[in-house]
Amino acid sequence: MARYEFATHRLHVPADLAPDATVPLEPGALNYLLNVLRMEEGARLLVFNGRDGEWEATLRKPTRKTAVLVLQRQTRQQERTGRIRYAFAPLKSARLDYLVQKAVEMGVARLTPVLTQRTQLHRLKDERLQANIVEAAEQCGVLALPVLEPEIRLERFLAALPPEEILVFCDEDAEIADPVLALRQRQPMAGITVLVGPEGGFTEEERARALAHPGLLRLSLGPRILRADTAAVAVLALVQSVYGDWTGRNVNEM
Ligand code: SAH
Repeated sequence: MARYEFATHRLHVPADLAPDATVPLEPGALNYLLNVLRMEEGARLLVFNGRDGEWEATLRKPTRKTAVLVLQRQTRQQERTGRIRYAFAPLKSARLDYLVQKAVEMGVARLTPVLTQRTQLHRLKDERLQANIVEAAEQCGVLALPVLEPEIRLERFLAALPPEEILVFCDEDAEIADPVLALRQRQPMAGITVLVGPEGGFTEEERARALAHPGLLRLSLGPRILRADTAAVAVLALVQSVYGDWTGRNVNEM
């Protein structure tokens, strides 16, 4: 049997999950299942809440317009969150949606919007970011939902970042050098924070602050300037491959 079952629709619910539990459906989910997916009585789903793993559920429709989910068995254990925090300068709407969804798929544990001098978006809609987190998790079978942290100005963020954390600073001005080698030369003893700038890149003052952090790991992502949302996927692939759960090792034992 394949590790993941993609044929069955996955749904995130806030309720606690346990054998034979009946999970009520919020209006949005109810509308989606009954009117968009046109699910009928007895339809099978997989549900998760980010705490209790993934459960097989059956749709029950006591009336034409209401429905609940009755849980059967747990299909996957709850995953532990990793230790990668993705700190990003918010981008404009569609690219921000994309960036957040890719970071979830790439397994980040925390998402931190960092306001830099050239950040073009200054009013973040948390509910939109949260909806993107849930949508990516539903589509890709992610069970450990990353925590969305409050937005913070870059200088305050860097000042508060513990010295024992590795700061993977994606610097478009860095000398081109082997990123895998650069990552391999450090052994993360605590959390790993990845920092990617805005559409306009970092200012010299911001670069100097990042370069002064004790846990600095300055990373070049090659000879071309990547769009910030492209840089997100590129750097998270490198970090997961060297430090994270793409290695096949248990990252929490490393
Ligand atoms: N103007 C483009 C690219 C801006 S650079 C855009 O519209 O997005 C955005 C951020 O991506 C940079 O601040 C840096 O964090 C990262 N980045 C892009 N290319 C990079 C490279 N070659 N090396 C390291 N980081 C890079």
